[in-house]
Amino acid sequence: MNPPVLDALIIGAGFSGMYQLHCLRDRQGLSALVLEAGAGVGGTWYWNRYPGARCDSESHSYCYSFSQEMLQEWEWSERYPEQPEIMRYMNYVADKFDLKRDIRFNTRVIAAHWDAPANLWRVETEAGQSYAARYLITAVGCLSTANVPKFPGLESYEGRWVHTGEWPHEGVDFTGLRVGQIGTGSTGIQSIPVIAAQAASLTVFQRTANYSTPARNHPLSPEFQAWVKANYGEIVQTMRETRNGHWFRIKDRSIFDVTDEEREAAFEESWEKGGLQFRSEFGDITTNLEANSKAAEFIKRKIRETVKDPEKARLLSDIDHPYAAKRPPIDTGYFEAMNLDHVSLVDVKANPIVEITPKGVRTTAGEYELDMIVFATGFDAMTGPLLRLNITGRDGVALRDVWAAGPRSYLGLQVEGFPNMFTITGPGSPSVLTNMPVAIEQHVEFITTLIAHMRAEGVARIEPQAEAVADWLVKVNEASHETLLPQAASSWYLGANVPGKPRVFMPYAGGMAKYRGICEEVAAEGYKGFVLERETALT
Ligand code: NAP
Repeated sequence: MNPPVLDALIIGAGFSGMYQLHCLRDRQGLSALVLEAGAGVGGTWYWNRYPGARCDSESHSYCYSFSQEMLQEWEWSERYPEQPEIMRYMNYVADKFDLKRDIRFNTRVIAAHWDAPANLWRVETEAGQSYAARYLITAVGCLSTANVPKFPGLESYEGRWVHTGEWPHEGVDFTGLRVGQIGTGSTGIQSIPVIAAQAASLTVFQRTANYSTPARNHPLSPEFQAWVKANYGEIVQTMRETRNGHWFRIKDRSIFDVTDEEREAAFEESWEKGGLQFRSEFGDITTNLEANSKAAEFIKRKIRETVKDPEKARLLSDIDHPYAAKRPPIDTGYFEAMNLDHVSLVDVKANPIVEITPKGVRTTAGEYELDMIVFATGFDAMTGPLLRLNITGRDGVALRDVWAAGPRSYLGLQVEGFPNMFTITGPGSPSVLTNMPVAIEQHVEFITTLIAHMRAEGVARIEPQAEAVADWLVKVNEASHETLLPQAASSWYLGANVPGKPRVFMPYAGGMAKYRGICEEVAAEGYKGFVLERETALT
């Protein structure tokens, strides 16, 4: 039996999918349905329940801004929201807009294909259900496909292993256990102090040392909460105007405009304030290598001052890339945890992991016996979540083949050959280089306006022009080279963390504000760069 035809199918019920449903269903009056693999809303926060999981964006800026009522109604309790609090927020939003009735939970999409004669997307789920819709909108996030390195012997391991991005919902008790953790990215740096507080011992396997600045998390005072509510208009405006979508501005001064003493004082002050603001202290930290090295040296010195054991301090401060060329973590007691006697650090760059044995981890330097292994090894970022949907477009061409040499898109929003498919925060958009809700809202609103335009104008089909895609690829590449971002060889922005993945810088690094301007211009010029086909052209 043919499934009923919907206007829109949305895959994923995180920040993007929920807002997209609200926009299409409640504002445009379309029939829309969300298919979600998890049993609840929340997207990345539904899956990432590892110890210490907390957002690195400040809570008052890590939320939707489309509803004044919500901005005034919701109360964040801490400077950085912890995973359970974000889940409460997502459920509050879902309930406020009655979204759950149009979300099918526990429904994993395993394939989607473009049915050209019917001008429809057909979608299959793991449970064998079929759906059909005019528009397919992927809201699968950028970091939702766990990367578990293919170490030989993992299946022989007699202990328990878990990946931070697929954390057991019932929690994990580390009491009395010898725990090993592989990975020291943003996730690993958050989980290490919390696991260390519980485990009998913690062995950290570090491949690439990482910069981290203190988060300085704290409960929000009633005065701050009142200030935020009174000033939300201005705060949201700033988030829309800044490069990274954060609520603070990057200072418009060069590191070389100040004396050594002034620079030191500025860094010290910023270090004390804590958070991602550290990189915005001077305008050239992320663009000029010499300026960057001043910030890098400051952080390395702080690491050496904090970590008492000289060998641990050396390993942790031996960082091979410019500061913030990889996504900079912020931490709560990461380097301090390294001072605990039961926390050891293993250099797996010098002595790589060879295999997982029944008893633990073997590196070229020897075996480490462990009761549990935590993989904080990140994600097959940006393209992974889209490729695992098994999407085929026009003429039966698979997205996997079109992207064999790396993702190609127009504005990170659409792929040539995949008509009426929209990728929220897709590769080629600012996405992961921003405070995500800001990028998400901009994409969702662009897609909503575009679909409304198509309906008003009788446009049945839209996809990008080949030249627009080629041109955008050049722009994405050029934008990355205006920053120091491509200089971190092992960065997941480049796909370097997954063996065999094409090395292409994936997000658009030109900044959220500039990107928003480009999208507005594209729309104002009648969706320049897209091919819009009217219904009559299809009959
Ligand atoms: P990640 O940044 O990719 O870090 C993965 C870690 O695992 C790295 O230290 C990596 O080493 C290591 N690793 C991977 N494969 C390995 C192997 N085969 N052998 C040894 N080590 C290996 O992943 P993540 O920490 O999960 O963070 C991913 C992104 O998620 C972040 O950059 C951020 O955007 C987001 N995130 C956000 C928050 C937040 O806002 N609260 C928290 C966590 C994560 P190499 O560096 O050498 O590859």
